[in-house]
Amino acid sequence: MSLLARAPIRLRLTLWYVFLLAVVLGAFAAGVYLFLRHTLYQNLDESIESRSATLLNVVQFEGDRPTPSDQVLLSDLKEREEFVRVFDSEGNLSFDGTSDFGEVAVDSRALAAGLAGESTIKSVKAGAEDDPLRVLASPMKLDGTVVGVLEVGRSEEDVSDTLSTLLLIMGIAYPVTLAIASFGGVFLAGRALTPVGNITRAARQISAEDLSKRLDMQLPDDEVGELARTFDEMIARLEDALRRQRRFAADASHELRTPLTVIKGQIEVSLQKDREPETYRHVLQAVNEEVDRLIRLATSLLTLTRADAGQIPLTWEKVNLGDILIGVADQVRSSADDKGVRLRLEVTPSVTVQADEDLLIQLVLNLLDNSIKYTPQGGEVEVTLTANGHDVDLRVKDTGLGIPHEHLPYLFDRFYRVDKARSRSDGGVGLGLAISHWIVQAHGGSISVDSTPKVGSTFTVILPTQR
Ligand code: ADP
Repeated sequence: MSLLARAPIRLRLTLWYVFLLAVVLGAFAAGVYLFLRHTLYQNLDESIESRSATLLNVVQFEGDRPTPSDQVLLSDLKEREEFVRVFDSEGNLSFDGTSDFGEVAVDSRALAAGLAGESTIKSVKAGAEDDPLRVLASPMKLDGTVVGVLEVGRSEEDVSDTLSTLLLIMGIAYPVTLAIASFGGVFLAGRALTPVGNITRAARQISAEDLSKRLDMQLPDDEVGELARTFDEMIARLEDALRRQRRFAADASHELRTPLTVIKGQIEVSLQKDREPETYRHVLQAVNEEVDRLIRLATSLLTLTRADAGQIPLTWEKVNLGDILIGVADQVRSSADDKGVRLRLEVTPSVTVQADEDLLIQLVLNLLDNSIKYTPQGGEVEVTLTANGHDVDLRVKDTGLGIPHEHLPYLFDRFYRVDKARSRSDGGVGLGLAISHWIVQAHGGSISVDSTPKVGSTFTVILPTQR
């Protein structure tokens, strides 16, 4: 990783910002300088050209040199920082008004071009101090014939002074602007990132042991505020998950302790003195029941923990749900008959879904088992299966004890039981509906319950027919 990539964001942002500003400002300054330079030279050239044109019109010649009065006129030009030189048709100097400019070298190429009828404008250095001059050499014509060359020169000092001043201003303003921008950038980036620092400090104080804390920062509705709120929401979800996990562990330990305490009690009582073989048989039966309960509990716990860890691979296949219902109903019919509960099936034939067959069997078994368990003698359990478009609708309706309204939201929670003692005496471990809920979710469906105490309950499962 480069050094820059490891630097704090504040520094990196500022460096990028200053770098971009330097490039943009540099390009802008260069643009302004070149444009101004071009314009100033253009103006200078135009003024020299117009002066040259005027002189070409007004200057009178005697032989190959201007008339004496015109020579005075031409010599006076120097007061305006201008000079004039005249060459005859042979290229010889016939009038020289450059005396105040020091020595101005004759540009033989411009002279030759002038004699050939072409105008040339150039920058030259003159005098001991190399003063910059702009010189225009134009042909002098009489009746269309070139009779000499008129050179008009003007000092470039104003132009170069203006350009030097501009360069000086830019040379000072450029680094000063960049320095101000750097400090401003560091300050602004620092201000913008202060809440991030606060979030980091506050987040550090939130440990796994105490997830009840929140950042709870009153931040505006911007990216950083969004980050803080998302963080709080995540902590809330973690807290909820941790709380449920702890409760699950506590409930599981409690559920494991109860049968173990019963077993221990039975064994201790039977060991107090010699007993009849019949008594030992009763004790062993009781122990056997509790061991069965422990096995059921361990199996359910294992299912749920493996489901949580995503370790239960689903075997997807086309499953005939109607056949499953008929099969499970046959399985539980004897216990329904024993209890005097009527079991009715109203199933649309050949309703198929993409599902894991074993899990669907377990789901239906859990629901039917509960309905029979919590329906007293003379009651009825009705199973209906209908298909509509993309979903199937499975209902298990009983005329049993029903569930008080306040319990309904928690019914699918692990170890949640409406009547603990009753459920336990019926062999329930309080995990059946939690497992059913997971199975339905794993199939992309939903499960709900509608119940009225002493009237009955209806469990509704909606499953998609396709994955
Ligand atoms: P359990 O093994 O105790 O039956 P479940 O998770 O299957 O555990 O059910 C949770 C609780 O929901 C049960 O203890 C019972 O109080 C209630 N319950 C489930 N199904 C029914 C039903 N059909 N009628 C009345 N109560 C029910």
